[in-house]
Amino acid sequence: MAHIGTTLTTFVQQEQRLHPTARGTFTGLLTDIALACKKVASLVHRGALVDVIGRHGGSNNQGEAQEKLDVLADAIFRECLLRNGNTAALASEEHEHLIHPDPGQPRGPYLVAYDPLDGSSNIDVNVTVGSIISVRPAPVDRTPTLADFLQPGTSQVAAAYCLYGPSTQLVLTLGSGVHVFTLDPDIGEFILTRTNAQIPAEAREFAINTSNRRRWDPAVRRWYDECLLGAEGPRGRDFNMRWIASLVAEVHRILTRGGVFTYPVDARLRAQGRTGRLRLLYELAPMALLVEQAGGAVSTGERRLMEVCPTSLHDRVPVFLGASTEVALIEAYHREAATSA
Ligand code: MN
Ligand code: MN
Repeated sequence: MAHIGTTLTTFVQQEQRLHPTARGTFTGLLTDIALACKKVASLVHRGALVDVIGRHGGSNNQGEAQEKLDVLADAIFRECLLRNGNTAALASEEHEHLIHPDPGQPRGPYLVAYDPLDGSSNIDVNVTVGSIISVRPAPVDRTPTLADFLQPGTSQVAAAYCLYGPSTQLVLTLGSGVHVFTLDPDIGEFILTRTNAQIPAEAREFAINTSNRRRWDPAVRRWYDECLLGAEGPRGRDFNMRWIASLVAEVHRILTRGGVFTYPVDARLRAQGRTGRLRLLYELAPMALLVEQAGGAVSTGERRLMEVCPTSLHDRVPVFLGASTEVALIEAYHREAATSA
């Protein structure tokens, strides 16, 4: 069992010893991920001093305007993840297609999907942003294809996010518990500062973008309206509301002090031909592994999000994430609405 104060490198080596079948490249992969996070943290924290704030001028494959930092963070992750031969292919929010190592470059046993900079529309107002990372085993003895990435979240062997806030924190699961490492900027090391984060089953806080209320499905409106009625309504207790509009910051709050975060599909998203707002492969699946490993639940409203299989790299799904009894209630309201419809 790792102790508070252990470095990330030592932690991963100790974990690897517990799993005799694990290969040494996993320690290498985690080192690559940590280096990418440290490089992005450095840029984010220097901000306007190094001319990295503002629009890049281009748009990504999903038609979203790219910030300069989206493009820089993506290049940092791509280079760090390909250079040492620990990965066989990558998928990034910023690329329409898979990224393969150049011919002649070494290939490793892992597939990584990542959002290099989440919440980047918050950059110019200096609000917390993050990176999200999802790791799967690569196929043995052949080049990975798109189908190898289009797998449910249950096939992940590790997931992490890095939060660039007042301090930089890397939150990691290798499939047994959730561990929080804080970057010590003086020595450049991630240090274990919290082990086995747990999300209480009952929520006292919820997070939802209420400006979309008129566009929500009836089940979501019912749940939200009942929360607002508080102690005088059917819930019999009061709730607080939070909304940062930065997925990494929202999930980190829930891992720290509980609650529930939601981003449902709504009439406007459907009119745009979208099935949700947040992306399954590199945003929600890794968050789902982390939240479940912390005792929370993650649902699309209809089913466990971890079991949803993407049909493309950039699929979007609705999400209800966090306190398990609250997520179960939201699922029950969806079932009741479907039955009465
Ligand atoms: Mn994102
Ligand atoms: Mn992003």
